[in-house]
Amino acid sequence: MMRKVLFASSEVFPLVKTGGLADVAGSLPGAMCALRQDVRIILPAYTEVLENIGRTRCMARLDMPQGEVRILMGSLPGTSVKVWLVDYPPFFARTGNPYMGPDGNPWPDNAERFDLFCRVIVEIAMKRTQLKWKPDLIHCNDWQTGLVPALLSLEEQAPPTVFTIHNMAYQGLFSHSSFVALGLADDLWSHDALEFHDQLSFIKGGLVYADRITTVSPTYAREIQTAEFGYGLEGLLQHRSKYLSGILNGIDTDVWNTETDPHIIEPYSVRNVEYKQLNKKALQQSFDLRKSDVPLAGFIGRLVYQKGIDIILQAIDALVQLPIQLVFLGTGEEEYEQSLLHFARKYPGRVAVNIGYSESLAHQIEAGADLFLMPSRFEPCGLNQMYSLHYGTLPVVRNVGGLADTVVNTNAETLESGQANGFVFSGERPDDLVQSLRYAVKLFDNDLVWKKLQITGMWRDFSWDHSAREYIKLYDQLD
Ligand code: ADP
Repeated sequence: MMRKVLFASSEVFPLVKTGGLADVAGSLPGAMCALRQDVRIILPAYTEVLENIGRTRCMARLDMPQGEVRILMGSLPGTSVKVWLVDYPPFFARTGNPYMGPDGNPWPDNAERFDLFCRVIVEIAMKRTQLKWKPDLIHCNDWQTGLVPALLSLEEQAPPTVFTIHNMAYQGLFSHSSFVALGLADDLWSHDALEFHDQLSFIKGGLVYADRITTVSPTYAREIQTAEFGYGLEGLLQHRSKYLSGILNGIDTDVWNTETDPHIIEPYSVRNVEYKQLNKKALQQSFDLRKSDVPLAGFIGRLVYQKGIDIILQAIDALVQLPIQLVFLGTGEEEYEQSLLHFARKYPGRVAVNIGYSESLAHQIEAGADLFLMPSRFEPCGLNQMYSLHYGTLPVVRNVGGLADTVVNTNAETLESGQANGFVFSGERPDDLVQSLRYAVKLFDNDLVWKKLQITGMWRDFSWDHSAREYIKLYDQLD
């Protein structure tokens, strides 16, 4: 029998996206459907989603205390994956970001909005709607769906739940008066339930009550059980460690494909990695970098503390002592943007910067660079290091989260065993990065070794199919 899975997420690419959660929710359900699971996505009917989804049909009307809520059905653009939208215009018919208003502050009624989203999911899970399709399992994602496992714990014969953490930094914290206003059962106000230091914590609903908890890499699953990465929830996660595991995200190998990438000048593959050279020349040209054979290192990402951009900035004066060129693409905090522009002026032809967001340039950097810098302070999974490996661009990363699970540091032993595919360092000091790059630059002169490292990365399977099989194995435990 095909398992029916309701996949709940507050954002889904390409309907609405603010971060990595949308990529997962846009890819994983389809990959699971290809493996004979009947997965449907549920998300709020934000204005942007209604604009992007095309035709929908009303499948059910629910009488909720707030008023009538409609369940609309459509499909994920370009796929046959079915999407259900929770349509309640007073909460979701707003333009812009799903979580915050134009002033950059969270919508003042976020607790009510996502409480309603969760309660509608519970009605569907408990088969109390007109929908004919009845889920066997509910897969929740991040705090916006955290109340689902909590509310289902109060029901008889509820379907099992899986809760996936995409970033522990976001927890959905609200005041005690919100808890009262939402009419949540008194029993849920306790340290063992939804209370967190006198606040209502949505994420705790998932962490306390879900049958299985996952996060997006095995190392991050261990890290969040420590004070450094757990944001005060490490004790609870230790307590539930038997039910907690990490499953790496995949990447979209149709979009990130060196043989068919429309953004790059010269296609290449494991059979002719040397063609990457032509992409490097094009990249140097478009960024006004000197035509040179020295290794070119790229950085793409949000310019925020999490990504360790400050570590790179402090290292630049030392890095330019090496035979190396640097190219940056990103937007974020003003201070980091200004500092990058300063170094581009200080080292013309050696350091190039584009402050902006560009899908096309991101592809050109991944294809043209020799090295990719990603010294994140924490990284639940990370995508860019996987794109890099897939593109034969050796990542230089910190030893955290998904970076530690995908990049294997190069040394005599890993070279010998054929596992080496990049460079991994541990500290947070600029010099830790410089040391790692110094070694990389030295190895760059050895064509044979370099090519072996590139090909090891390019061979690795980063498809969603692989991840989907892991999730299905987890679901199997709950049948
Ligand atoms: P996070 O989700 O924490 O930002 P990830 O590495 O998981 O980090 O994913 C970031 C995604 O956003 C990648 O697809 C990356 O290429 C893309 N990205 C980030 N900044 C930019 C930018 N300035 N231009 C193009 N793509 C970007």
